[in-house]
Amino acid sequence: MAIYKAPLEDMRFVLNDVFKADEQWATMPATAEVTRDLSDAILEEAGKMTEGLLFPLNREGDEQGCQWNDGDVTTPEGFKAAFKTFAENGWTAFSGNPEFGGQGMPKSLAVLFEEMMHSANSSFALYPALTSGACLAIDAHASEALKAQYLPKLYSGEWSGTMCLTEPHSGTDLGIGRTKAEPNDDGSFNITGTKIFITGGEHDLTSNHIHLVLAKLPDAPAGSKGISLFLVPKFLPDADNNPGERNGATCGSIEHKMGIKGSATCVMNFDSAKGWIIGEPNQGLACMFTMMNAARLGVGIQGLGLMEASFQNSLSYARDRLQMRGLSGVQAPDKVADPIIVHPDVRRMLLTQKAFAEGGRMLVLYTAQMLDIVEHGAPGAEKERAETLLGLLTPIVKAFLTEVGFECTNEGVQIFGGHGFIKEWGMEQLVRDARITRLYEGTTGIQALDLLGRKVLMSQGESLKVFTKEIHKFCKAEADNSALKEFIEPLAKLNAEWGELTMGIGMKAMQDREEVGAASVDYLMYSGYVTVAYLFARAAKQAAASQDGDDAAFYKTKLNTARFYYQRLLPRTKAHAAMIQAGAGSLMAISSEDFGLGFEI
Ligand SMILES: Cc1cc2nc3c(=O)[nH]c(=O)nc-3n(C[C@H](O)[C@H](O)[C@H](O)COP(=O)(O)OP(=O)(O)OC[C@H]3O[C@@H](n4cnc5c(N)ncnc54)[C@H](O)[C@@H]3O)c2cc1C
Repeated sequence: MAIYKAPLEDMRFVLNDVFKADEQWATMPATAEVTRDLSDAILEEAGKMTEGLLFPLNREGDEQGCQWNDGDVTTPEGFKAAFKTFAENGWTAFSGNPEFGGQGMPKSLAVLFEEMMHSANSSFALYPALTSGACLAIDAHASEALKAQYLPKLYSGEWSGTMCLTEPHSGTDLGIGRTKAEPNDDGSFNITGTKIFITGGEHDLTSNHIHLVLAKLPDAPAGSKGISLFLVPKFLPDADNNPGERNGATCGSIEHKMGIKGSATCVMNFDSAKGWIIGEPNQGLACMFTMMNAARLGVGIQGLGLMEASFQNSLSYARDRLQMRGLSGVQAPDKVADPIIVHPDVRRMLLTQKAFAEGGRMLVLYTAQMLDIVEHGAPGAEKERAETLLGLLTPIVKAFLTEVGFECTNEGVQIFGGHGFIKEWGMEQLVRDARITRLYEGTTGIQALDLLGRKVLMSQGESLKVFTKEIHKFCKAEADNSALKEFIEPLAKLNAEWGELTMGIGMKAMQDREEVGAASVDYLMYSGYVTVAYLFARAAKQAAASQDGDDAAFYKTKLNTARFYYQRLLPRTKAHAAMIQAGAGSLMAISSEDFGLGFEI
């Protein structure tokens, strides 16, 4: 039987001890009322809700999946009732704008609650996740009238939101989308086109679905500069703002897919559907980026939640499963064999999961703190700095955490042996659910291009310097701390190497632009490893200073986990550095003839 328990102790350690979140909240009027006591109580409640309400539906949700019937979609048994309770208890409004009925909770608290949801039931978590992303875009870019009409209904959980970008021929390349928007005399637009793979495009959890759709106006310039964003409801709101006339937005079918089966993935047909523009004409992609950036962080959190779930189950199984004796002798003489947790290789896999989950949690929280400063901080240098770091870290959160998240769920199956491959224990579901995270919201390859090309090289390395300077300052301040020597020395070296590798790619790219694409994924992974190393050094500092007292065992384990990360995972940077330096030559050398193409690549 699968298990899940919200990792509250580690969450509190990261939130309160490492990042001192309450001190940051106190500096900003919008979050000043969030105290440590309040955040602790909220985490406790979120833990109970995810363990008791969402987790019990996870397995059934996977087995039943969603059903399509003549345009209607039924979610797995129990989802509808659970969503009602979820919404009634205010979770759909958690970080929404208080002006329109949201609770205004900081992102640095919301991300921990989101992690719990993805650990407990990733398919379920996607419905509110897409809705809260849609709310962010509406709140940031829509007219006051649209905000007042739609946000309260979305925050209350009566209605839900979607993100409609992808078309059959247009996935990564949104500029070639064909969906059209024709203006009407009353200021609205008629939207026509087909969107595919739309998460939560149709379902039975809410009475109305609010689609945020990318489409092109008749006179739009070609490519991504000609995209506008529209709000298209399933039912047009009536005079009392209740679902009224049926709009021309219908679900043609749902996908049968590898994982997240409780999440409806829909083909959406827009047939002269009435919609309203969000933001300025042809500025749709920029507006949609508000939602996409939130979703990128959200998908990184999905990777994190799934690896935490896999770790918890693996640990529990490894304590119980008896196979063979320990290499150094019998460890459990009263048993027929020793529990597999005594074997170094099983520990290697378990600690890989544990270190990535704890490191990933810090990465997510650190990034969320930047988001809080960007959203609620006073204008000035600190806000600008937070904006730069947020831009730099978002693709790392998204791609690094989903790559290692998939690795960790796979290791979960390995720890269970053959029992991981069969359905009974739920370990193979975690692998299938995690697989999508490397793909949607921009694949790993696209995140890597965003990081290296857009964020780092286009700023002439300045955005990276903002971060490497922070790491340098930390290393300098801790240089004489003997308890941290094992962390600070390698971190300082890698931090310097990060800048050198970046310069090297920049130089090569001046001769050949393919060098950027050739280095990008290794560069992103390298960046992820170093970033998490910095955060583990900060956690180790906290843990090293707290070795006595009631929680001594927790801090000792934390130090050991940091040590494992530095000794057994961080060396992967060497391979990534070597691959970055290998350049584009061997990738691009194979001739077009060998690939059977009609043109040179
Ligand atoms: C379950 C599921 C749910 C989804 N939910 C939504 C949703 O709610 N809303 C929505 O709009 N979409 C959604 N999507 C779509 C998803 O975001 C896309 O599938 C994804 O962005 C990739 O697009 P694609 O599948 O068309 O692949 P393609 O764009 O065809 O890419 C194929 C491969 O080529 C690579 N590639 C493409 N261009 C480049 C380049 N310039 N440089 C390097 N490599 C490149 C990609 O990395 C990838 O490996 C969902 C998809 C799935 C499967």
